[in-house]
Amino acid sequence: MRFVSTRGQSEPVCFSEAVAQGLAPDGGLYLPNDFPDLSPFFGKWENLSYPELCFEFFRLFATDLEADELKRSIDHSYSTFSHPQVAPVVQLNSNCKVLELFHGPTLAFKDFALQLLGNLYELQIARSGQNLTILGATSGDTGAAAISGLIGKSGVTVFILYPNGKVSPLQERQMTCTGASNVFPLAIEGTFDDAQKTVKELFSDLNFRQQVGLSAVNSINLARILAQSVYYLYAWFRLGTAERECTTFVVPTGNFGNVFAGWLLTKMGVSIRGFRVATNQNDVLHRLFRSGEYSLDSVVPSLAPSMDIQVASNFERLLFFILDGDFKRVREVMNRFRDEGRYCFDNFVAEGFSSSSAADWEIPEIIHSVKQEYGYLVDPHTACGFKDLPPEEKHLVLATAHPAKFPEVYENAGMEKPTAPILQELLEKTPVKYDSGVDASTIRAFIENHSSYKSE
Ligand SMILES: *Cc1c(COP(=O)(O)O)cnc(C)c1O
Repeated sequence: MRFVSTRGQSEPVCFSEAVAQGLAPDGGLYLPNDFPDLSPFFGKWENLSYPELCFEFFRLFATDLEADELKRSIDHSYSTFSHPQVAPVVQLNSNCKVLELFHGPTLAFKDFALQLLGNLYELQIARSGQNLTILGATSGDTGAAAISGLIGKSGVTVFILYPNGKVSPLQERQMTCTGASNVFPLAIEGTFDDAQKTVKELFSDLNFRQQVGLSAVNSINLARILAQSVYYLYAWFRLGTAERECTTFVVPTGNFGNVFAGWLLTKMGVSIRGFRVATNQNDVLHRLFRSGEYSLDSVVPSLAPSMDIQVASNFERLLFFILDGDFKRVREVMNRFRDEGRYCFDNFVAEGFSSSSAADWEIPEIIHSVKQEYGYLVDPHTACGFKDLPPEEKHLVLATAHPAKFPEVYENAGMEKPTAPILQELLEKTPVKYDSGVDASTIRAFIENHSSYKSE
């Protein structure tokens, strides 16, 4: 299996190469060049355990990896999850279910991809003998999950940029209290989008990329997308056969990586009714799906901080399909968007998608009403998924984080503060972070001074 860039100006690469690079050299994002039809496997796959299903799925894409190496990496990755089913489906009522994605070590769905990515990187380094420098920007959960997946991996140095003061205190502790010597959390002056822009800029500097062996852990990395496709498939199998085709997946969305991972299955013979893109008050995608206008706005910090973004990087992947794989038009749209901060599609059709947006004041109300109605406590991101759900239709809402990551929200709403032992332990540790400007040259210099790549 080969992987092609959405912008069509890079050579197709194998799986390991796409994973090691993250972003394609032409600035595009990697996609598989063709899609296997999964329907012949449904009977065989529907009762597999989570790691077994993940292995069967990845085998179709990671064709350049040894099967037993891949299997070991996958088993190891999901052994860190605390729930025996890894991604359990919980029924709230006959029309509404929740897919719990918060049983990994950092209590958010990003662990699914990043535990695996850490192990895939290790394989890659063992094979190539070349160290990697991991660079990522985070609005909170990615950083914590990336760090957890990469702690102590030999040959890997990790730099995570996050907006100072704009991630939750516990999220910050998850990044800064690890005690790991290969991890550098950088608290930058600016927003998540500023951090992401710098990351993109450094990735577009090919000399620098080569020099330090730069790789991305942001959801632009294809391995992350594919790892996330697995839990949609796992959940789809857990639905009754009659429900499978009439259930809409509801996905709390920021960078569009998670929901795109689910949508990809529809290219592989998996029949899914639709996807509801649930945003918070930073609603660039909700506006896009309603009006066909993709336009930048400023980021307004919200109670669901991991969705506080305005440039949804993975939208480029969907765009590639909407434009029928026309690389040239993808480049035109992305360049125009970069230069003008907006792009207006005439006749924007994204079949299978609907959207919603929850204002900040609504989030505590939704948390409260879900608790009242179902006796189930959702985190502020998951709460956005419950905004205006038509009760007569079947939904499966992705619960993207554990409520205990955001205790202030419950406290301020006069509710009992949720807790988790793993987070309590963090409060006793000493944070280590690096305050920094966000401009590319400052970050580049910091990486050059601290990366293990150069010194060896
Ligand atoms: C990252 C994150 C999201 C947004 O996911 P995207 O893939 O960026 O759309 C939603 N909820 C939580 C808890 C997250 O950590």
